[in-house]
Amino acid sequence: MNNIYNLTKNDLEQYFIDNGYPKFRATQIYEWIYKKRITNFDAINNIKTEIIEKLKQDFYFDIIEIVKQEKGTYVIKYLFNLKDKNQIEAVLMLHDYGNSLCISTQVGCNMGCLFCASGKLKKIRNLEVNEMVSQILVIEKENKLRVSHVVLMGIGEPFDNYDNVLKFIKIINDNKGIDIGARHITISTCGLIPQIEQFRQEKLQVNLAISLHASSDELRTKLMPINKVYKIKDLITVIHKYVKQTKRRVTFEYIMLDEINDHKEDAISLAHLLKDINCYVNLIPYNETNNPKYKKSKRVKIKQFYDILKKYNINVTIRKEFGGNIAAACGQLRATSLRR
Ligand code: SAH
Repeated sequence: MNNIYNLTKNDLEQYFIDNGYPKFRATQIYEWIYKKRITNFDAINNIKTEIIEKLKQDFYFDIIEIVKQEKGTYVIKYLFNLKDKNQIEAVLMLHDYGNSLCISTQVGCNMGCLFCASGKLKKIRNLEVNEMVSQILVIEKENKLRVSHVVLMGIGEPFDNYDNVLKFIKIINDNKGIDIGARHITISTCGLIPQIEQFRQEKLQVNLAISLHASSDELRTKLMPINKVYKIKDLITVIHKYVKQTKRRVTFEYIMLDEINDHKEDAISLAHLLKDINCYVNLIPYNETNNPKYKKSKRVKIKQFYDILKKYNINVTIRKEFGGNIAAACGQLRATSLRR
């Protein structure tokens, strides 16, 4: 028995072929599941019972459950229980352009970024495909709305759960399924070079965001241990290749940490680093956690940083602050719940 939410449409087509049925059944089933949102096979009325019985033998519907939510003005943060009692988070943001959902990809994270609340809690396991799909289905049902944008920026390193994340993207992007456009999906990575290379060859139109946060190896290694393995220069080289092949602009995320990476010199060196790349920089005011070592940069410093990048013709935006008042910074709800 398998959870039906683990299957891409291709998987389901293969299943029908293997069982001697025409593969177009997969499209029909997909529409029942993701357009009509049925939660049991008996609700299907245009497919013969023999097939329905077979599906019932082989698949079940199971979703994760919300255990806690915190509401801000334009943001709702969710804590979920998984089957094995592990917990993950997702954050729904209501923008003027649509509803964006930030989802988790792992239980915990092994990347160990020092400023990150999730990084403090080691990876317990990868999320299954259905557990990622579920985050969208459950939140859409709970709020009676459609999610238009998905960002893989919750707990976990998506490229450390590559195969499941790729299947997840295929499922939510399928126009017979949840049908979220590739350009509305953003995958964020701390910079795992082999996986970025692999991802380039998938030829998807998904947005790629790189968590850079520093422009020198010395500082980046202090903040992000992964930089010991994958140096900035090598990261920039693969990003050049990525942009050349996909013709897609990449995003660099840069969290603004008071007196750590927010000096004038940091902005100038960042501008030099990125000068030939079709990219844009997203400056993220740091969401303070209970780690006293890291504070959010002063407003004037963020503005100064922004102005310098602009002067060097780098496309740059300052991320709107959303979840601060409800501890929406990644991983904080789970961390608080675990401390209890
Ligand atoms: N592991 C992936 C995706 C999850 S983190 C990655 O590293 O990109 C998503 C983004 O949030 C990353 O840029 C991460 O560095 C950033 N982040 C982590 N903790 C944060 C905090 N307290 N405030 C602001 N951004 C944070």
